[in-house]
Amino acid sequence: MKDTIISLIKKNRNNYFLKNKIELKCKCGFSEKVTYYDFLSMGEFDIGQTTQTISTYISESIYDETIRVTPLNLSRKCPVCGEGITAIFPISLENLIPMLQMAPPDLLMYG
Ligand SMILES: [Zn+2]
Repeated sequence: MKDTIISLIKKNRNNYFLKNKIELKCKCGFSEKVTYYDFLSMGEFDIGQTTQTISTYISESIYDETIRVTPLNLSRKCPVCGEGITAIFPISLENLIPMLQMAPPDLLMYG
């Protein structure tokens, strides 16, 4: 699964969504902003435990819908003190994959 994500990310390197940044902060005061693309393409993440949760989206026909949520846990070593810095990727695996698969192929981006 992790390989699938990394290859999807690499195909989506021009995707605007992946240019969003996430801030990583260490206990020692070091902080760094990296793009979603940089982080995920380097493979510095782990796939967390899937949990079931009740969707807050309620319509006339759907209510109490159970959805699966799998977090992506980011981790990297602090370049200053060597401690691990961890963060949870803001988008769950279930939402990330369709977003990457929907994106137009690279060729269209250069037109
Ligand atoms: Zn540190």
